[in-house]
Amino acid sequence: MPSTTSCPENGLASSSPAKPRYACQRCTNCCRWPGFVKLTDSDISAISNFLGLSEIDFIQEFTRLRPRRDGLALTDQPDGACIFLHGRDCRIQPVKPIQCSGFPNEWNFSGWREVCEAIEV
Ligand code: SF4
Repeated sequence: MPSTTSCPENGLASSSPAKPRYACQRCTNCCRWPGFVKLTDSDISAISNFLGLSEIDFIQEFTRLRPRRDGLALTDQPDGACIFLHGRDCRIQPVKPIQCSGFPNEWNFSGWREVCEAIEV
């Protein structure tokens, strides 16, 4: 359904298609597919604090260098799942990395609907 917004320059209302939003169903598919979960400096600070670790200890225990050597990513479990996935739960859910919290609404990729069970809300 199109949304109506007001133009601040002329005060006229304009219609533009609303961007759909999706609600995660915790299928955990995105926690298991191959790839790198990039970590920002704020991710590292928040996660290490949440786990009660120093940033150095967190980095040593749970991260690896990304292939281009341009930053850190979370490590994986032996089966390729995220190191923080336990069953269907994320051990760091309240402070999960921006890359995780942004999918699929802030970023996604061609064909993502075939591998993600999020529903449009
Ligand atoms: S793949 Fe989609 S529905 Fe499944 S856990 Fe990830 S964001 Fe949620």
